[in-house]
Amino acid sequence: MIVVPLGIASATPTSIRHLPSVALWREGSVFLFDCGENSQMCMLQAGLKRSKIDSIFITHFDVDHYSGLMGLISTLQLQRREKELNLIGPKGIKEFVEWNLSFSGVEISFDLNFVEVDDDIDEIRVLDTDDYYVEARPLKHKKFCLGYRFQEKDSQVKLTLPRLSSMELQTMNSSNHLKQVITLH
Ligand SMILES: [Zn+2]
Repeated sequence: MIVVPLGIASATPTSIRHLPSVALWREGSVFLFDCGENSQMCMLQAGLKRSKIDSIFITHFDVDHYSGLMGLISTLQLQRREKELNLIGPKGIKEFVEWNLSFSGVEISFDLNFVEVDDDIDEIRVLDTDDYYVEARPLKHKKFCLGYRFQEKDSQVKLTLPRLSSMELQTMNSSNHLKQVITLH
């Protein structure tokens, strides 16, 4: 898993710092946290394919945190994306995106799975898979703002043990010895 800061400026971009966005690259998929203006260009510069975006998480509705969202969705449409896209954010994200698409007369070819978070929650799981989940919690800010936590689930380590002799089983009384047995066989 690799975290790639795409934009770290606040409120207004500078010549060298872009508006807020962080990409999480995990096993070929990209998870985007906030999508400020220029986020998709910063992805290209970082070598991250936009087609690999699995989910986009918006923290709050200050414009610098989502001003790149509609441009990115437009790009995905122009790329003829077919894979569904998860869009997670405070309540209102669905209305915002659908209004923009309707205003522009754009019909997208892939499904948008919206997860809207109400402003009265303490903590909520917004994404849950066999391998990982993402939780959202309110942060202190001048308007309702979400912090996200990406959590890997414990994976079952599969060991294929060799056939052991009774002598080996009797002497296998520590995990350290077990490692030795597995290595030897
Ligand atoms: Zn803000």
